[in-house]
Amino acid sequence: LPEYAFIGRSNVGKSSLINMLVDNKNLAKTSGRPGKTQLINHFKINKNWFLVDLPGYGYARVSKKEKKTFQKYITQYFLKRKQLVCGFVLVDIRHTPQPVDLEFMEWLGTNGIPFAIIFTKADKLKSEEIEQHVSKYLQILLEGAWEEAPPHFVTSSTKHMGRDALLNYIGQINAEVT
Ligand code: GDP
Repeated sequence: LPEYAFIGRSNVGKSSLINMLVDNKNLAKTSGRPGKTQLINHFKINKNWFLVDLPGYGYARVSKKEKKTFQKYITQYFLKRKQLVCGFVLVDIRHTPQPVDLEFMEWLGTNGIPFAIIFTKADKLKSEEIEQHVSKYLQILLEGAWEEAPPHFVTSSTKHMGRDALLNYIGQINAEVT
């Protein structure tokens, strides 16, 4: 079955987003503690695709050695996994592009791995600020190596926002690949 991988810096809101997508408050175990998700977890959705929860990157609290191990895990997954259709890189909508995120997206691009950006925690901004933050982020991205902005989604797990758009997008690609 096709797989869609979710990744981002710890505390970006990945577990909350996954729980919103799968409609389960506690499945992906949210917590305020960075670096909580440490293994690759598969969630089967609609019986026809897997949501893959990857460890967060940019941990504050794990050793260098652990960091290296996770990094190797993640890169091997993206490079080798045949079922992988698309990666979703989560970024906090309030933040300017972070070097580790930019680096990772560039790495995905260089390796020809399709990805989309998910802006999380949109409820933390006023609605009129959302579009502004998104275009600023994409503008910075386009000043770098990118010719074209990747697909992107605005979400809020607390406000249940962006769920349909994301699931529709995945459903559409699914229809194309299966
Ligand atoms: P992870 O480390 O990326 O899995 O992040 P979590 O899902 O555990 O969330 C980290 C923190 O951000 C928690 O305190 C969540 O309650 C909070 N959070 C996550 N998503 C949202 C959101 O959409 N809106 C708001 N306001 N807070 C969020």
